[in-house]
Amino acid sequence: KLVVLGSVNADHVLQVPSFPRPGETLHGRNYQVIPGGKGANQAVAAARLHADIGFIACVGDDAFGMFMRGNFVKDGIDTRGLKTEKGCPTGIAMIQVSDSGENSICLSPEANERLTAEAIEADLDMIRDAEYLLMQLETPMCGIEKAAKVAKSANTKVILNPAPARELSDALLACVDVITPNETEAEVLTGVTVTDNQSAQKAADILHTKGIDTVMITLGAKGVWLSRMGKGDIISGFRVEATDTTAAGDTFNGALVTGLLEGLSLESAIKFAHAAAAISVTRFGAQTSIPTREEVDAFLAQ
Ligand code: ADP
Repeated sequence: KLVVLGSVNADHVLQVPSFPRPGETLHGRNYQVIPGGKGANQAVAAARLHADIGFIACVGDDAFGMFMRGNFVKDGIDTRGLKTEKGCPTGIAMIQVSDSGENSICLSPEANERLTAEAIEADLDMIRDAEYLLMQLETPMCGIEKAAKVAKSANTKVILNPAPARELSDALLACVDVITPNETEAEVLTGVTVTDNQSAQKAADILHTKGIDTVMITLGAKGVWLSRMGKGDIISGFRVEATDTTAAGDTFNGALVTGLLEGLSLESAIKFAHAAAAISVTRFGAQTSIPTREEVDAFLAQ
């Protein structure tokens, strides 16, 4: 079983011709409210790819929180660890997607801020019993550190997608088995600007010295830099026409763990994750863009 611990957000998405500069007013179009949040996206990706998955998170007691809970159940997610916070809104993100496919995001955590070390006390057995624990950084650090420590002591493998970018304690990094930063996050964690294979390996080496066995630096359309025990190589992604890269990294992470859970090698799990993420960038939105297992299998059979 896989346990995902993380955030839930309502994404308020607007399509824009370009990003407005300070003081500028632009006309957007296609306003939509789409289920998002890094934790929820990764949980949904794993569930749509048929992983046996439990989700530990907090939603507010508003309409969106109720709607999301229903969607998680429909996607086959075990929601015993999903908490509803009284008098608190569900987390929100204001997202602009430009016609060139880039995004610009401002978010407010709201209920996500309640996912503290105390709040997950009742979920620790689920973490101990799981094979993998997948986390991101959109919820309080005390909850993330507690979950990582419990997982480590119970031999549950910890996969950390260190997004959004921030510095992390050595104590947390020492509990992590697999880390999946993008180039920006890798730079914040290591101080190394990732521009080529050499710098990617340099950043990976710093993360290895913190006790992390497997480092995957995601490189957007180029794929990932995979490094184990100081030896790295690029694993290329798939070439597709990008419409909206929102949740590409999340789809990648959810699919990666699903592949690992099925016993795939790291390289094969990465290929599987590249396929799922490639499909997601051809579609609009966060959870609306995450493919099903059948779609990924068909893509890989092409
Ligand atoms: P993030 O979205 O977290 O910044 P990346 O941009 O590095 O992460 O993308 C994560 C993964 O998504 C990549 O490793 C790749 O598999 C896939 N991906 C992202 N952008 C594209 C793209 N333009 N074409 C194909 N695959 C992509």
